[in-house]
Amino acid sequence: MATQGDLSSEIIQLQSELFEDVDATLVEQWLRSCKTLEFNTGDIVIAQGEANPSVYLLVEGALTVHITSEHSSSVAVLKPGDVAGEVSALSGRETSAWVTARTKSRAIEVPRTLLLEWAEGSHQFALNLLQLSNTRLHDSNAVSRSIHANAEVLKAKAMTDSLTGLLNRHWLEINQDRFRGISLIAVDIDHFKQINDLHGHPTGDQVIRTVAQTLRQCTRPHDAVMRLGGEEFAVVVDLSRADSSPMELAERLRTAVERLQVETSTTSDGQSSLQVRISLGVATQKHAEAWEGLMERADQALYAAKQGGRNQVVQAP
Ligand code: GH3
Ligand code: MG
Ligand code: MG
Repeated sequence: MATQGDLSSEIIQLQSELFEDVDATLVEQWLRSCKTLEFNTGDIVIAQGEANPSVYLLVEGALTVHITSEHSSSVAVLKPGDVAGEVSALSGRETSAWVTARTKSRAIEVPRTLLLEWAEGSHQFALNLLQLSNTRLHDSNAVSRSIHANAEVLKAKAMTDSLTGLLNRHWLEINQDRFRGISLIAVDIDHFKQINDLHGHPTGDQVIRTVAQTLRQCTRPHDAVMRLGGEEFAVVVDLSRADSSPMELAERLRTAVERLQVETSTTSDGQSSLQVRISLGVATQKHAEAWEGLMERADQALYAAKQGGRNQVVQAP
């Protein structure tokens, strides 16, 4: 907990941008009317969401600023001469961050009323205060920009399959209601379990990556290519921008995969590369058809392709 301490001459000599070019005798006189607070490591100097009538001028130690909770990682470290709490004290609004003592620290507490008196008494001090507030505003904008950028990165990661870099099921869940005028191509690697069994899981992963790359290369940037799980993929084709029928595209995907030669890491069967085949089911969205129905029809067509001997494309009725 914070305890009150005595002012010492060392405090009076404090270098702070708040007092830059302000008459030193005046500063000394001002500071003598303030009290100092002592904080132990981990003490809360300012709690978020509360009224804060004072600013804290750090004299000794270090304080950290936290945005989401007092235990979240800090966005700034304050050192002797730095000020905390000026935004809430000056605006009269509730505090927007947590400030805690990183080490044993001492700070001068300046009540808002005193701060305004000093600003009235010294033009320079008022300018310093204005500059300090604007620097804080600038810094907090930089923090929001970086939080926003991090959130965008995390959002993109959450919608990306880590093995292949394709979109994942989460992307589909978020976007499926927006699909209009599309065809869905459901894709599944044939006898993939055998590939794993014969050549090992790492080679199986390599096959999944290679098929993913082939699907991406054979489609247009506006077609969405997803890995839905395991060795199952889906392609959403925007029919308004397609230059061939979805059946033709599916057939192109099938032949492109058929031509692949994937290097194997194990050569127990004496081969150094293996061939991959896929089966595909194509369904075209009927007027106002919901995603679930379209997906089910594409899956049924895929199942028919498997039943028909695999390595083929079947169109849903
Ligand atoms: P079908 O031709 O009927 O599709 O047969 P299949 O062997 O391809 O299908 P099955 O569903 O029986 O086997 C799929 C296998 O895929 C089983 C599972 O162990 C494997 N698998 C799932 N996810 C991964 C993965 O991320 N990496 C690897 N290497 N294997 C995976
Ligand atoms: Mg399969
Ligand atoms: Mg499967």
